[in-house]
Parts: sequence; C-alpha cells; structure tokens
Amino acid sequence: MQTMRAAVVESHGGPEQIRLATRELPQPGPGELRIRVRAAGLNHLDTWVRRGVPGHTFPLPLVLGSDGAGIVDAVGAGVRSARIGDEIVLLPGVSCGVCAACLAGEDPLCADYAILGEARDGTCADYVVVPAANVAPKPTNLSFAEAAAMPLVFQTAWSMLVRKAAVRPGETVLVHAGGSGVGSAAIQIAKLFGARVLATAGSAEKCARAIDLGADHAIDYRAEDFAKAVRRLTGGAGVDVVIEHVGAATFDGSLRALRRGGRLVTCGATTGGDVGISLHRVFFKNLSILGNTMGRKDDLLRVLQLADAGRLRPVLARTLPLAELREAHRLLEQRQVFGKLVVEP
Ligand SMILES: [Zn+2]
Repeated sequence: MQTMRAAVVESHGGPEQIRLATRELPQPGPGELRIRVRAAGLNHLDTWVRRGVPGHTFPLPLVLGSDGAGIVDAVGAGVRSARIGDEIVLLPGVSCGVCAACLAGEDPLCADYAILGEARDGTCADYVVVPAANVAPKPTNLSFAEAAAMPLVFQTAWSMLVRKAAVRPGETVLVHAGGSGVGSAAIQIAKLFGARVLATAGSAEKCARAIDLGADHAIDYRAEDFAKAVRRLTGGAGVDVVIEHVGAATFDGSLRALRRGGRLVTCGATTGGDVGISLHRVFFKNLSILGNTMGRKDDLLRVLQLADAGRLRPVLARTLPLAELREAHRLLEQRQVFGKLVVEP
C-alpha cells in the first residue's frame, strides 16, 4: 500500500489534537486530480475546525487545510484541463457545478458547497485529491508558498469589497486587522479599486507594515479607540465601508465608524460572534450589514491573474515544516505574525 503523511484532527481541542498520521495514498476518480502538495496556507478557519464550533458537526477525522499549491501528480479519467507536472494553485471551494447557484457563478451558495479542510480532506498532507475545476495555474512569479498564501483570504476579501460592498473610487474603507490574512488582502484590493484605506493593527510595527501594503492611514487599536480615530481621519463623517472579521471586540465600534448609508461586510468573528446591535443606529443612519463566506471561483481566477501581473501580492509571514503544524496553529491564534503562515510537506 502506498502511503502519505497527513495532518489530521480526530477530535476537537487544542493544537495537541493535530496528529501527523499515515494514510493511504488517495486515488483520483473520474474528473479528479491528485496534487502533490508543495505548500499549504493556514487560515483562521483551520483553528475553528480544530477547536470545533457549537452547533456545527465537522466530518472528523479530517485532514486540515483549505489553501495549497503544488504539482499535478495523477489525472483521473476524463480530465482534459490538466496534465501531470502542471504547477497549480488549489481553489478551496468545491461545489456541484450543475445547480442554479453554480451556473450563476455563485458557487458559495451551492447546497453542496464544501471547503477543503472543513467539509472534506484538505491540503495539510503530502497529497490531496480534488475535482479538476478546483485548480488554476500557479502565477509564474510566485513561489509555491506565496501562491498557497492567497486563495481563501483574497477571494473572501474580493467578494466582500467588490461583490457585497460594491466599493467605488474615492470611497473610504476601514479594514480591521491589517496584518491578518483577510486584512492584508482587503487593503490591496480596496486600493486597486481606488478607495482610501484606513487599517487597524495591534502594534506600531504592524501599522507600518499596513502602510507598506498601501493603507493611507494605520490606526493602532491598542493605543487609540479606532472608531474615534476614524472620525478624526474622516472629518467626523465616518467611512463608507467596514471590512469586519474580528466580531465581538469591534462590531459596535465598526457600526459607529460608518457614515450615513455605509456598508459593513462581515466574514468572521475571531473574538466571538454574539454582538449587540443598536437598531436605531442601523435605520437612522441607513446602514447595510452584509454577510459573506468565501467567494466566487471566477473572482479567484481574476485575483490570480492580478497576482501574475504583480498588482496583488501575497503577504507571507513565515513557512514551517508540515510536522510543525501545531506550532503554526499556536502562532496564528496568538496573532504573532503579520500576513500568512504556510506549512511545507
Ligand atoms: Zn451547485
């Protein structure tokens, strides 16, 4: 039996629940590809899968990891779009491809939508098998590690800013946690669309990095109330759009930071998901609160084209060996890094 190493969670808990297991080498079925993983990117989603989410059942045991890049290693029957040896980026959302949502390009709304490492085995392994529709050519100017740092957060940030908030040139966008994966992507995409960007970060050093990425102003939320800083930086008006993924710790301030008619898009709640909302504030200020999970495959293909053209860039904090995935989870949860963590098998 041919085998591979895979980082598996069998029961929920701390990083110690991650086990490097030996598994049978998966075989691609019709329409599928087997990828030799060269790099796997981490996301906060991985830590939720590991810890567990009340009221949600994950199909354990599960191989962690939604993002990855690697080389096509075996091709299933009927696949014409890829060949052995192709260097690819994995697209993390798997969908049926034939329902009304999929045909409309809204694959995250597919009833069968499944994220690698969340609803089916993921990328933190020597190999992963995916549908042929879940790979795209690796941008030639990116390393495998850089490419693996992009898909989930960039497609999420793109969907939030472009699809949901419909950001326009000249608008002002507040991006929370500019050093996070979604934050570092959102700063760049908002600038690409001609917006003015205010980013928050948790230290002077992280603020400087956010400015390097293109933010017009950075707010050290440990030193200053960010909603007050937003009012100061916008002449009292507030921002047009808030990119919210912090949750309980920031949500009320995010609503206060919005100008009349502003839009808040939320894709996560790393500090907790139960928040109080002043409905008076929502209706008197004509606010919109928009939810977002993941993003469309075609948008991710656009992101990768823009990366190839050097107009968007991954922010890679650090790479570790796959065997040190537990340590990588600890670093992610302690918010010790600016940008993305990647593990290499
Ligand atoms: Zn579908």
